[in-house]
Amino acid sequence: ALERYASIRDKPATTLDGKTIGLHMNAGLMADLPSLDGSGAEGVGLFRTELQFLVRNQMPKRHELAALYSRVLDAAHGKRVVFRTLDIGSDKVLPYMKPNDEPNPALGWRAIRVGLDKPGVLRMQLQALLRAAAGRPLTVMFPFVAQYEEFTAARAEMDKALAREKILGHVIPQKIEVGAMLETPSLAFAPDKFFEMVDFLSIGGNDLKQFFFAADRENERVRRRYDTLNVSFLTFLEQIVARCEASNTALSFCGEDAGRPIEAACLAAIGIPTLSMRPASIGPVKNVLRRTNLDELRAVIHGARDRGEMSVRPAVMEFLRNGA
Ligand code: PEP
Ligand code: MG
Repeated sequence: ALERYASIRDKPATTLDGKTIGLHMNAGLMADLPSLDGSGAEGVGLFRTELQFLVRNQMPKRHELAALYSRVLDAAHGKRVVFRTLDIGSDKVLPYMKPNDEPNPALGWRAIRVGLDKPGVLRMQLQALLRAAAGRPLTVMFPFVAQYEEFTAARAEMDKALAREKILGHVIPQKIEVGAMLETPSLAFAPDKFFEMVDFLSIGGNDLKQFFFAADRENERVRRRYDTLNVSFLTFLEQIVARCEASNTALSFCGEDAGRPIEAACLAAIGIPTLSMRPASIGPVKNVLRRTNLDELRAVIHGARDRGEMSVRPAVMEFLRNGA
């Protein structure tokens, strides 16, 4: 698949109406990093750090994590890497942590909730990231933030870790950006000051869609029932775009839908400027974007909405078929 799109690999994802969409890749292991050059991704928009914890049978040590994150940054050759702090719980259970017996793990004690309630691991991870990025830019993102106080508390942990590095006399990162994943509907309604305080937001579409429709992302039967191109969901995403535009907050989308060409084109058309996806999807998504007029596509989306259609997919498919 990578060879097929080789001719556009180094070209920008610029649409027919002249908008350039940022295309980044999702990663989780050192082995993913070579795809950064091969795919033409601008950076790593989501580095899922939990995989490093899941592939071991004991808790990694801080120096091991720091060495790994440092190698990830080396392999990125200066391209931006967004490290997402540990997102465990729910479907991702660490073999060496006591399992929680929770009736609804997806709605349970997971991700940043664990990180704030038992901050030992989060602190260790932040220290490792700061160490790894010494003298280089560092970008960190907190998963599953449901209310803005969780972000403030997590960022306070980062500030404390940074102060500690300074006291210890370690070289600190050249610049630090701290953002949040928007994957619960509640966060879209956070106060303005939240949107102003985050350095960036990334929509975790897999979880956001699951909670928006109350449909388990692991359950094929209910998951397939609700289309990402459903008018209600797109309207909700447009509201998030509007809030980010109003507060000048950098926004991206890093769920699986970002890697599906038709969905990706629609996400770009409603104003999401950056998409992050599996490396093999970059070529196909870029190919579609380069053949699409996003202004026209947005008009098609709004037309279907105004006609009361449930999903904009049929109208979008027809438009893309005729246009490309
Ligand atoms: C998401 O929820 O869309 C996401 C990118 O995170 P994960 O798939 O790891 O939950
Ligand atoms: Mg998620």
